[in-house]
Amino acid sequence: MVSSAVRVVLRARPSEAASLINFLPDKKGVSVVQQKVIEGRPGGGQPAAQNYQFKFDNVLALASQEEVYEATAADVVRGALEGFNGTIMCYGQTGAGKTYTMSGGKQSFKQRGIIPRALGHLFAEVKAMPDREARISVQYLEIYNEALYDLLDITTQPHEISIYESSKGQVTVSGLRTAVVASEAEALALLFEGETNRVIGEHQLNRESSRSHSIFTITLELKPVGDAGGDVLVSKLALVDLAGSERVSKTKSEGLVLREAGHINKSLSILEQVILGLGDKNRDHVPFRSSKLTHVLKNSLGGNCRTVLVANVWSDAAQTDETLSTCRFAQRMM
Ligand code: ADP
Ligand code: MG
Repeated sequence: MVSSAVRVVLRARPSEAASLINFLPDKKGVSVVQQKVIEGRPGGGQPAAQNYQFKFDNVLALASQEEVYEATAADVVRGALEGFNGTIMCYGQTGAGKTYTMSGGKQSFKQRGIIPRALGHLFAEVKAMPDREARISVQYLEIYNEALYDLLDITTQPHEISIYESSKGQVTVSGLRTAVVASEAEALALLFEGETNRVIGEHQLNRESSRSHSIFTITLELKPVGDAGGDVLVSKLALVDLAGSERVSKTKSEGLVLREAGHINKSLSILEQVILGLGDKNRDHVPFRSSKLTHVLKNSLGGNCRTVLVANVWSDAAQTDETLSTCRFAQRMM
């Protein structure tokens, strides 16, 4: 029996060009039209169209950032307040809107994405809990070519960061800066610092951000105070902006680009195997340790964790092949 370990939401970014995606009226599916040229006929190629349909838990077309937050992250954040770990991941080709969805646009307050909204949501909720003392901390990790980088401290070298797993299977990343944040503003300043460092890494160290995974982790500890008894609740939220899923042409690229593509393909395919493995009751081995991404996320996937995969697609006709590939990946996760 396979039942899915994740909730899958498709988000299409607005396109200026003609779109070949049609949104099914139930808001749970799309159909994608692919134009094909059939060669070898007299008089040249003959165009033919093929129609593919996909079903998801939810489909967001032309949705505002607020609607996206409500449809993807709000419940996961509420779960964290009750002690459940959660993960939200954005998957899709470069340019499809992963970073816009996760971090947001810079032009206006309305454009802020899932991470700033989740921080705002958490701080507002814990403020309203008089019988709990909250401790919130953040980490910001980048994984590039299977090496780990600290986005909150660029002086840290990859060899100083390692993944440690206890005998009970608790995974921690050692060597990574953990910043305790007392307010939403303080947390946002760190997020901004991390994003700036991601750009610095890109320019000075050739670590192109579309080729790396980034994981912003929020750890919440809620301790009862006064007469309120009970345990300390500890939960983690992993907010993941995955590397671009686009296929890289082997004939057109070489060296570094090909090596990056190899690492990305491998880690995304292991992510898929892990998620499918978690949903399969008969499967006893889930290959968490086969990639840095899934190893770091081990305590944030499966079990009691709430996981949402946002499949970001770019609805321009020119992007149809990648849109189909993203829809297929997302569909397999259902
Ligand atoms: P990715 O991280 O997947 O490579 P980005 O998030 O950087 O893609 O998006 C590419 C461009 O499209 C950016 O300029 C971004 O601001 C814009 N964009 C993406 N999604 C949206 C959206 N839903 N609404 C408006 N602009 C968007
Ligand atoms: Mg991006």
